[in-house]
Amino acid sequence: MQTGSFQWMKSLNKSTILNMVRVHGPISRAEIAKLTKLTPPTVTNIVNELLQDGLIVESNLGESTGGRKPIMLRINASRFYVIGVYARLGRLDAAVAHLDGKMVHQCAQELPLQMDQTAFIKALQAIAKEALAMAEADGQPVLGIGVGVRGLVNPRLGELVFAPHFNLKHVPIKTMLEETCQLPVEVENDVRAMALAESWFGQGKELDNFITVYAGAGIGSGIILKNELYQGVSYGAGEIGHTTIDIGGPLCWCGNKGCLEAHASTPALVKRARNMMEGGRKSVLHEMVQGKLSQLTEEHLFAALKQGDELAREIFIYAGECLGIGLANLINIFNPLRIIVNGSLTRAGANLMEPLSHTVKKHALSSSANNLSITVSDLGNRAALIGAYTQVLRKIFAPGA
Ligand SMILES: [Zn+2]
Repeated sequence: MQTGSFQWMKSLNKSTILNMVRVHGPISRAEIAKLTKLTPPTVTNIVNELLQDGLIVESNLGESTGGRKPIMLRINASRFYVIGVYARLGRLDAAVAHLDGKMVHQCAQELPLQMDQTAFIKALQAIAKEALAMAEADGQPVLGIGVGVRGLVNPRLGELVFAPHFNLKHVPIKTMLEETCQLPVEVENDVRAMALAESWFGQGKELDNFITVYAGAGIGSGIILKNELYQGVSYGAGEIGHTTIDIGGPLCWCGNKGCLEAHASTPALVKRARNMMEGGRKSVLHEMVQGKLSQLTEEHLFAALKQGDELAREIFIYAGECLGIGLANLINIFNPLRIIVNGSLTRAGANLMEPLSHTVKKHALSSSANNLSITVSDLGNRAALIGAYTQVLRKIFAPGA
């Protein structure tokens, strides 16, 4: 089998059957024929090819419906690896995973906060190589690398178009990594990668229409519509952080005023707490930073919340209300079945989620909100990394998507 390309998946029937085994396995050849409406000889031929490729294996015998017990097929999950890389400000993470999404190795690397394009690419290549070396040490072939990165991404070109937080433009991630690693590379925005992770392995698994919202240092969303990741015409879909929730509100780094991100991202909340304290509000935060308000961070806010500090509690209630407005707007536009919230703000627990739900109920049209659930992601801070390699799994199992 040839790694370095997805050529062996060029037949649609082949990927359909492979995906059928992934979703329904262990499954018999007869059941596959029944579900796919392909003829039994076609199924037998393609199954033989997949067995030869090592992508599936014959497992235990199934239940008989009269005659001989059928031989069951399942994905040979541990036969191959996929690699995921997650790039955010100050840090790179990489993971090696089985075809069933199980993470088997991880590595990480700190990044300088200021770096040029060459240094950024070099760091990406280095961590991809480190992950590849871990796979090689196990003697396992790798089928591809997926990258999730903060910023505007063109997935078709595999290019990081604009990353204001890295201060980088037009980084050809796919081209550079494919050259170094000699493997197919997929690139996506980090929050959209999180939505993919939820769709394959998280709370979006059974859902055709749901939205993942990330709320932390930035705010964004990943939209799954009719079981597909919606990217938008120029790949800008889901940027709820820059929807206006307050005309004339505080200035956002994007140049607009009153963006959701300028109100409820962690830097905005830190700034809000600082302003309140400068205005005379008492809080344990004063002692935590020994009066040096410029040193206040989100960690202090979470610590103060844990100690029952009233100001910290107000800050997170405010964040919940702002996010609730952003979510209500999303709900009125997309009418999803679920919104899965992720990001560091979820650490505030009910202090965030209760005012959030309450605000959604108040502001979203009840016809859209009635069937909706708002949950906190189970994948937590692994979501972007899982989503990064899920891009490769999607290419293998569902190339039509
Ligand atoms: Zn903005």
